[in-house]
Amino acid sequence: MHISSIAGAIANNPSPEWRACDKHPTALGGRNMSGLLLRELSIAGFRCPVITANHQDYNRYRKVWNGVADRRPVAIVRPVNMEDVRKAVAAAATSRSLLAVRGGGHSLPGLSTCDDGLVLDLSQLNTVSLDKDAQTVEVGGGALLGDLDRATVPQGHVVPAGVISHTGVGGLTLGGGMGWASRKYGLTIDSLLGAEIVTAGGDVVWASATSDPELFWGIRGGGGNFGVVTRFKFKLHPLGSLTAGKWNYPMANAGQALRALRDLAHGQPRDLTVSFTASASGLSVAAAWLGDEGLARLMLSPFGELAGSGSGDIGGMSYLQLQSRNDEYFAWSRRYYAKGGFWRDLSDEAIGKIIRAVAEAPTPESEIYALQLGGAISDISDEATAYTGRSAGYYWLSEPVWDNAGDDDRCIAWGRTVANWLSDLSIEGNYVNEQGDAGADVARDAYGSAKYRRLAGLKSRLDPHNLFRLNQNITPLT
Ligand code: FAD
Repeated sequence: MHISSIAGAIANNPSPEWRACDKHPTALGGRNMSGLLLRELSIAGFRCPVITANHQDYNRYRKVWNGVADRRPVAIVRPVNMEDVRKAVAAAATSRSLLAVRGGGHSLPGLSTCDDGLVLDLSQLNTVSLDKDAQTVEVGGGALLGDLDRATVPQGHVVPAGVISHTGVGGLTLGGGMGWASRKYGLTIDSLLGAEIVTAGGDVVWASATSDPELFWGIRGGGGNFGVVTRFKFKLHPLGSLTAGKWNYPMANAGQALRALRDLAHGQPRDLTVSFTASASGLSVAAAWLGDEGLARLMLSPFGELAGSGSGDIGGMSYLQLQSRNDEYFAWSRRYYAKGGFWRDLSDEAIGKIIRAVAEAPTPESEIYALQLGGAISDISDEATAYTGRSAGYYWLSEPVWDNAGDDDRCIAWGRTVANWLSDLSIEGNYVNEQGDAGADVARDAYGSAKYRRLAGLKSRLDPHNLFRLNQNITPLT
């Protein structure tokens, strides 16, 4: 640990208070708690730097993707190995501090940062190592989707994950993980073979189908509730050829285009996936074909003729290009909110609500997005993993995007209102990873009562004091 980086902060927290507080840490105020945390960090013996407010890189490292989540932790630890992770978890547990675990930093409600607590930033645990013979890949808990894709795709393999390359593998996987290859190969969790986890008690456990299968069930959808994943192991799939198309239609034609898209997308082979985005700049339809190149044009071109001809085209593009083509649109530090749900199918009523939502959108970039699901995702039963919603045909999102803090209330209100309209048309279950609000009800609503009880039982065993509570939280049974 770079003691110098925390020396100043410790000097501001007189040690007699820490000593007096040792016996009753929960009775302390925030300043005293900070002192306790800093002391624990100073004696932990990290190999990595500990960054506090007086460190020159503090402002850089405290940032997360969503500009709304502008928080000031007491310290940021950036582990370089599993031992550092254990020490950070122990320091937070002993000082009873808030602990935020950060993979790629893309939590919509900003759950990977906090005020007055410790941020465990895993971004240096980002190695990816491929075993071509075994057809597996091991991925550090802080790797980004781009790190994973850059290691696997040039070798002709893929692990299905999300659609923006700067998203973290950690958070995305623990909630489920859906993207362009999911209809063909399932959710990211469906390729997960095992994970190395540092628990609240400091144990290092391996969760897989044969080693603590209940924990393996829970981490496949249960989020970061059960510990810090330092390493994931995934099964690889053959990538094959990719053809993608993208077209724009004026919003005036959106009703006709979306009804045609729904009818066309229905019952297609799982090599085909469509998504759409409706915003003030129009209806953008994207389709990807991960199959026989000879059939690609036949399968994709009808999506360019949904309501007259859309402007756009079909093109050969690499999977890496597909995965990063919207990266800049979802740039770091802008202000975001999102709320989503599952549709069994795209109804006429939902199409009407989408058109109305766009007409009332607070900024030009605010959008309604939907990704087609089904295929391999629904081959697996809902009970097999904590993730809930496998029978869905689409995942939808209401996503305002803006830049000025003064617009927060207006933009978030639009996001919530539209989400309420669309939720009324949605099926049960939800995806915890794409919810801009956090609170006791989010996890309960997402998992349903039976699954939530099972998850709470697992939580009680692994994290009875709820150290890992900055997530869509499952509270331990009392
Ligand atoms: P972080 O903010 O770092 O982490 C979120 C939470 O995950 C943390 O609070 C923590 O509880 C937990 N966590 C993260 N890493 C670990 C770890 N190693 N061990 C234990 N807990 C951990 N989802 C999709 O399925 N498909 C998409 O295409 C998709 N696209 C997205 C695009 C953008 C721009 C954004 C912002 C989100 C997108 N999402 C998508 C949602 C995404 O899955 C979640 O935001 C996810 O939480 C991001 O993971 P992260 O590691 O970047 O986030």
